[in-house]
Amino acid sequence: MKCYNVALVTPCSSAPAMPAPTLPSEKSAAALITACGGRITRTRLAVLGILHDSAHSLSHDDIAAQLLALDVHHDRVTLYRTLDWLVEQGLAHRVSGLDRAWRFNSGGDDAGAHAHFHCDRCGHVVCLESIRPDESLALPAGYRPERAELVFHGTCPDCGRRRAEDA
Ligand SMILES: [Zn+2]
Ligand SMILES: [Zn+2]
Repeated sequence: MKCYNVALVTPCSSAPAMPAPTLPSEKSAAALITACGGRITRTRLAVLGILHDSAHSLSHDDIAAQLLALDVHHDRVTLYRTLDWLVEQGLAHRVSGLDRAWRFNSGGDDAGAHAHFHCDRCGHVVCLESIRPDESLALPAGYRPERAELVFHGTCPDCGRRRAEDA
């Protein structure tokens, strides 16, 4: 069950082209967790804050490293459970990276509801909330799509700049 009864987390189906909600403060993160009926734990607060503050998606390892930097002690299982819980509650979503490992983004949008950009150089995955796969595309008769995934591959601005400097 997804939790959408929070003003800051808008289901994207009713709000197309809305920018991703940003709430870096732990107070906002706590409000979101409480609104979902969840228990506030140090790990949940920290992980939600980390995801919201990141411009691109993060892998388990990225998040684990940031938790350590924040001095939030955790084990792998706790981190997996925390991420699963955030995804279940619609506070985060996951996309599969080039290496097939999951990457996590904040926001309750279904991963298939908006497009993603994969940078093939640094591996970062970025949400493109304003670009939405059009499920009404003309499909052959008899096909009923339930979801579509749109992924762009290429070079992110940072890697593009680096390449221009190297040239
Ligand atoms: Zn890149
Ligand atoms: Zn996304």
